[in-house]
Amino acid sequence: MSVALLDAAEVHALRPDDVVEGLGSDASLGLANAEAARRLNDDGPNALERAPKPSWIGRLSRELRDPLVGLLVVAVAISLAAWLLEGRHGFPYDAIAITAILTLNAVIGAVQSHRADNAAAALERLSAAQARVVRDGLHRQVPATEVVVGDLVALRAGDTLPADVRVLSAFGLRTAEASLTGESHPVDKAADPVARSLPIADRASMAYSGTAVVAGRGIGVVVATGMTTEVGQIASMLIRTERLPTPLERDIAGLGRLLGSLVVAVAIVVMAVLAMTSDVSSASDAIDVLLLGVSLAVAAVPEGLPAVLSVVLAISVQRMASRNALVKRLLSAETLGAATVICTDKTGTLTRNEMMVRVAVVGRNRVDIGGVGYEPAGEISAAGQSLDPPVERALAVLLGSAAVAGDSDIEAHPDGWRAVGNPTEAALVAAARKVGDVAAVPRGPRLSELGFTSDRKRMSVLLSDTDGDIMITKGAPDVLITRCRTEWEDTGPVVLTPERRKWWLDHVEALAAEGLRTMAVARRTDVAAPLAEADETELEWLGAVGIDDPPRPEAGPAVRAAHDSGIRVVMVTGDHPGTATRIAQLVGIAVPGDPVLTGPELDHLDDAQLAAKAMTTPVFARVTPAHKLRLVRAMQSQGDVVAMTGDGVNDAPALKAADLGTAMGCTGTDVAREASEMILLDDNFATIVAAVSEGRTIWHNIRSFLRYLLSSNVGEVFTVLLGIVFASAIGLTGDGVLAPLTASQILWINLLTDAAPAMALGVDPVDPLVMQLPPRSPTERIVDARMQRGIVVIGITMAVVTLVMFDLQRSGGLLGGSSDLDHARTAGFTVLVFAQVFNAFNARSDLVSAWHGWARNRMLLGAAALAVLLQVAVVHVPFLNEAFSTSPLALRDWILCALLASVVLWVAELRKWNLRRSVTAGGPQSRNTKKPA
Ligand code: ADP
Ligand code: MG
Repeated sequence: MSVALLDAAEVHALRPDDVVEGLGSDASLGLANAEAARRLNDDGPNALERAPKPSWIGRLSRELRDPLVGLLVVAVAISLAAWLLEGRHGFPYDAIAITAILTLNAVIGAVQSHRADNAAAALERLSAAQARVVRDGLHRQVPATEVVVGDLVALRAGDTLPADVRVLSAFGLRTAEASLTGESHPVDKAADPVARSLPIADRASMAYSGTAVVAGRGIGVVVATGMTTEVGQIASMLIRTERLPTPLERDIAGLGRLLGSLVVAVAIVVMAVLAMTSDVSSASDAIDVLLLGVSLAVAAVPEGLPAVLSVVLAISVQRMASRNALVKRLLSAETLGAATVICTDKTGTLTRNEMMVRVAVVGRNRVDIGGVGYEPAGEISAAGQSLDPPVERALAVLLGSAAVAGDSDIEAHPDGWRAVGNPTEAALVAAARKVGDVAAVPRGPRLSELGFTSDRKRMSVLLSDTDGDIMITKGAPDVLITRCRTEWEDTGPVVLTPERRKWWLDHVEALAAEGLRTMAVARRTDVAAPLAEADETELEWLGAVGIDDPPRPEAGPAVRAAHDSGIRVVMVTGDHPGTATRIAQLVGIAVPGDPVLTGPELDHLDDAQLAAKAMTTPVFARVTPAHKLRLVRAMQSQGDVVAMTGDGVNDAPALKAADLGTAMGCTGTDVAREASEMILLDDNFATIVAAVSEGRTIWHNIRSFLRYLLSSNVGEVFTVLLGIVFASAIGLTGDGVLAPLTASQILWINLLTDAAPAMALGVDPVDPLVMQLPPRSPTERIVDARMQRGIVVIGITMAVVTLVMFDLQRSGGLLGGSSDLDHARTAGFTVLVFAQVFNAFNARSDLVSAWHGWARNRMLLGAAALAVLLQVAVVHVPFLNEAFSTSPLALRDWILCALLASVVLWVAELRKWNLRRSVTAGGPQSRNTKKPA
């Protein structure tokens, strides 16, 4: 192995150079690409081992392990044994049919669980962590799994460590190690060796896989990967736990169990009644009673419910991912649909994050800067004239200083210039290059720095220069100006008078009102490394710039869509209130006259006042991450379900507190991503709205398939139960076991109508209607009282039409007819299958007619067609006639079956029509009356 030269457990005590050398790496070039590939091949991927995927045999046996299925298998075995003992009369059709159906059911279940696992794995690949490494002297982004021992890793605030590293250099580097050591305070990291005997928690020269960089930056060399890292060693000790079910899954599993016990109770009653009413004279009759009861239980117990649910959720989550919204847990997919307010960032989410400096204010001049994108070329003018030399010098100092005070750059590509790093800073670099003469700007190596955070809204770097060191600070103008004592003049710094302060702030205000992002630059010469916050005072003001960042074209329509669906949209930004307001108006979040609250104003409100304001204020500006957290809490106290975006390390608490923390996939930090429920792969506001509509669709679809499955199963139970209770009224008389359906028929119905239509309903495409209703109330149960009533009504209707058909065919009973038992059963059986097919179309909504977009769901049409086709086969194919005790139906009977079955549809339509009437009259469905501000 590549670390053979070194003991990974002791590298904290060695000098950085020795570690790098010992690992066969290079402190500036890193590993060679070929060497990295070789090590990856030797050591394997940098990942924690996971439980192996279950085999097909494993999946199948899990399906068959269901107790009811087991009972049925036992019953079948008994019936086969009896058939053998009784001298093998006839052919054991029932047993064979039941076995075949059970096997098919198990296969379907196994395929579904396989699909759900695959979907989950695909999602994991999408959200796979990345690491920045240096190889062959170049900075590259690689999947964290490809990091090898000896790799140089660049670390920055917000990163999660991809592996265990020995720190080689650090600028204010601090990591949070709670996940590993339990230490809740961030710990400082530095390159100096520490004592060999120190425990992990005190090894300041090491940073460990899975911990997060919360401040500063640095470089480390990887000393351990995968299972050999400290977390890897812990992980290998832990017993692997299964994923915990989400509340929704628990709810539905509970529902399944409740229904299951009811069905089993009914099945026992059915068997008891059958044993009494039928003339059970032989052992084979007794076995038939048992088979019927157990088959009824197997068919009507919604044992597949959790499986269908997880497949539906997994597919929906995949659908969201294809729209660039990555949802980490299945639960959040449906929480999304309940969102009542979306709190969104401005920069990059509502705007394109393609920055360009348009205006600079220096001395007493406003300078216009032309150009396109990040290309370092453009016309520079003041009031339409070219610049006077002093103004040009001032501009060169301002922009040149701004450019060196960041960590970003611009790069020429065949398709144009691109920003590398932070777009705001890259825009400053591009602007500086337009000026050309930036000789006055220090270029020496960086000695120290104080990083940008959205709390501080500024950053400083200390550069070495020929005439001593110089600190350059850039940041929000209103923050920076309070820290300045003088301002730049061609002849030397002069005191910044109150009038001049006002002049500057007025100009900044004017830039903001144009929707420009504002930034100021200042400097100071008499400070030394390392920098401290106390050094960021007594500054010399150099000027301010206005940076253009136009709204995304899709932001406006997305805001409108959110408003239409009863969701409030609130802008929460660290930017200037003027800039924020202007952009908010451009995208339709605010209208002129709407209030704006700033962070400092927020500090003067208590929680109750804030809660009140939070309902009516569309724009919050100059806020810090702590304000975001207060805002989330305030909104939640008003009953809101809050989606909140964030990108920085400090946003993590607000993201965690929000019902739906949403991190930026492009510009966000690992820490923000980890704290979030959802990741926007394209950082785009419109993606949030798309995800909400998918989230609502999921909720809607889960309700649809529950409505369908439960009412259909209840229909089967009622058919058998009512059939044997009213046996003489429907002419159910004769020898043997007297039930309206046979055991194999019941299982057939279950096979035909349970799995495929339910799945199809679960993945119904997004209906634009879901975004025209207000958000559902967060307390709404997935199976509400109305749905429960509907299930019973439809279930009874199915039973009645089935039994009516039976009696119509059967001689005796209340209605005429002349058929034998088998023929009457065949007709009733067919009605029940058709009724379930109709019911699948009913179940797509509790409000809208089944005709609305009835053909939109191709899978449902397919499932329905297949069910009808197979039913025709079971009625007309001779060997199936034998197996299922059916006999061919006349065309007239088929039509009659379809007509009778359609009663289910008409009953459901009546209920929907009734509900629609009460909705338009302001009835129970106008659940959430909160209107967008
Ligand atoms: P948002 O992301 O909501 O637009 P930020 O927290 O990024 O807000 O920025 C807040 C303010 O901080 C900006 O208006 C700008 O003046 C300043 N700022 C932004 N980026 C930087 C940076 N890289 N260095 C210094 N100041 C910055
Ligand atoms: Mg930002």
